Amino acid sequence: MSEPIYLDYQATTPIDPQVYAAMEPWLRDKLGNPHSAHKLGREAAATVELARDHLAALMPAGGKVIFTSGASEAINLAVYSCTGRDGDFAASAIEHAAVHDAMAGHGRDKALHMLNVKADGVTDMVAAQADMPQHLALAAVMLVNNEIGTIQPVAQLADMAHRRGGLFLCDAVQGYGRVTIPDNVDFVAISAHKIHGPKGIGALWVRDGITLRPLIYGGGQEQGVRSGTLSPALCAGMGMAAKIAKERAQQDAAHVAALAEVARKAFADWHINGSTEQRYAGNVNIWRDGVDSAHLLSTVRNVAFSAGSACASGSGRPSHVLKALGLSKEALTSSIRLGFGRFTSENDIVQAANHINAAAKG
Ligand code: PLP
Repeated sequence: MSEPIYLDYQATTPIDPQVYAAMEPWLRDKLGNPHSAHKLGREAAATVELARDHLAALMPAGGKVIFTSGASEAINLAVYSCTGRDGDFAASAIEHAAVHDAMAGHGRDKALHMLNVKADGVTDMVAAQADMPQHLALAAVMLVNNEIGTIQPVAQLADMAHRRGGLFLCDAVQGYGRVTIPDNVDFVAISAHKIHGPKGIGALWVRDGITLRPLIYGGGQEQGVRSGTLSPALCAGMGMAAKIAKERAQQDAAHVAALAEVARKAFADWHINGSTEQRYAGNVNIWRDGVDSAHLLSTVRNVAFSAGSACASGSGRPSHVLKALGLSKEALTSSIRLGFGRFTSENDIVQAANHINAAAKG
């Protein structure tokens, strides 16, 4: 059987060939440890620093980039760094588990206040005024939601957090390179494999003047914040992925918008979850009467797509994001997520829709 049509870009994205080319020499020929003082080490360090510059080019000004193993670690590092601050934590109700669980786990002595979303999956700013505590250590709201693609009012929420004495963390995993990150945030977490880079590497951007509290001690790499030998191959790959994302931003956006239009027509009988305006076009989360998404997933083997969030699926837990929208039970159990992007063709969407619609009617 041929490979399934890949429509799960929120779970992970295909490696860009230029990313692969940037990584290959570091896996095959070059052996320097970027923390060694000799020529080979310096060559590796230069590669790491160039990658760091590429990541920073899509971040707000006035901060630094710390490499991590992925966004989960970056989020944990930001949250842990705020545990010594006075005040409570706040997070949008539709954050990734990495945010909710890091806040609950590292902030055991703090209350965690949830910021609800409206039925369209966008943070309710009126409710946030009441629900964000006046005495705040850290608030976290993502740029683009991973399950429903809604874009959150991050700039306004960061202002609100600052007025209450808190810092602001933006999980930009799904929006980095696609949606501009407001420049008033304090921390930004990103992950390479969501932008056509390799798995196993991410980064935390932190505003100058904020002190990070290490989670990992050892050789003192990453300015003493995150010990462990960096992988030049992974750094080079992530850096190249960011460079391409910046260069191709308009082209990618136009391609994704065209694909979304094809998907809108191909899935015309389905209802969309989340705002139709305030969203990243490469995420289509839809439901339809009479569909059992788990059954659909197991029937349609030649399309790789997802029911709810790939991270939560398999856990048996109903999606906290879809629940936060106040969906009916019918909508909750029939929702599917299709994610597409740079390497998806219009024909992929049409073919996938044929398979999915045929099985859904079956
Ligand atoms: N945040 C969001 C919004 C995500 O979609 C993901 C991954 O699915 C993560 C965080 C965790 O990223 P990583 O796999 O790099 O730890």
